[in-house]
Amino acid sequence: MRAAMASASVGDDQYGEDPSVNSLQERVASLLGKEKALFFPSGTMTNQTALNVLTRPGDDVLIGDEAHLVWHETGAGAMNSGVQFTVIGEGGLFTADDVVEGCKVRDHIVFPPTTLVVVENTHNRAGGAVFPQTDVEKVLSAARALKLAAYLDGARLFNTAAATGQTLQALAAGFDLVGVSLSKGLGCPVGSMLAGSSDAIRAAVRVRRRFGGAMRQAGILAAAAHYALDHNLNRLSEDHENARRIGEHINGAPRIRFDLSSVQTNMVLFHLEARDNSAEAVAAKAREQGVLVAPFGPRTIRIATHLNVDRQQCERAGEILSKILRSW
Ligand SMILES: *Cc1c(COP(=O)(O)O)cnc(C)c1O
Repeated sequence: MRAAMASASVGDDQYGEDPSVNSLQERVASLLGKEKALFFPSGTMTNQTALNVLTRPGDDVLIGDEAHLVWHETGAGAMNSGVQFTVIGEGGLFTADDVVEGCKVRDHIVFPPTTLVVVENTHNRAGGAVFPQTDVEKVLSAARALKLAAYLDGARLFNTAAATGQTLQALAAGFDLVGVSLSKGLGCPVGSMLAGSSDAIRAAVRVRRRFGGAMRQAGILAAAAHYALDHNLNRLSEDHENARRIGEHINGAPRIRFDLSSVQTNMVLFHLEARDNSAEAVAAKAREQGVLVAPFGPRTIRIATHLNVDRQQCERAGEILSKILRSW
């Protein structure tokens, strides 16, 4: 990847003259079945741009529990676009009924107008959970009937595709805009993409500029993305198998809340039930033995597998964690 970056052909992307960025944008647009795609420095800016393109200040946005847009973007939706979020459903997932119930009618004397629904797939804080596609389709048809725009925060959509065998086009179909990250499972140092219609992406180009994300010789970064799509896309299921292995080791440990069937992609999420045990303490014990896990809440731990850890390392990590959890 570093070698590909070093030898990338580049130009000034602010003038649309970077051949590596241009070819990446075409490649990802076609992967996602959209007219156009646009390169971004981060998934957060991708999300914020989509929100800004698809809403107006004062609008209401329907979104799942513990969404990245609500929890991990430092309140940017309120600050950049002046929207409010209405959280619907449970565990990051929701149904068409939840959309209908959560939607506030427009032109009402007191209601904020609901104009957008956001699906996060896979769902980060739900431990990499896949949003079932039958539910996605029903949510989208409810959204259409209610005249809501639809955004897919697909930062981890490549994992959904790997886990379910569905195509990226099928997963992205029906959404006005779709964001995907190159810097998660695909292993790029930098980069996310936003895809949608030509009109939506034309608007996104100006918003990206406004947010300070228009770059110059970004082809160095686009070359990393091309490399990742060539080499790292088809190995994502290895990460999923490795997460499963870790899950099997910790499964059945006392005083944790964990369901092995919740390991659908490259993450393992579990909760410590004992009040005298904290996620920080477990993470510190694991770190002492070379295993890095994320305390995701006072008693919640998230583990992510990725291309820099192999099967053997994950088996070992699972053994170490299992010992820690069983010896508390
Ligand atoms: C990581 C992530 C993002 C944001 O990506 P950054 O590049 O870290 O800003 C957005 N949405 C989801 C679901 C993510 O997992």
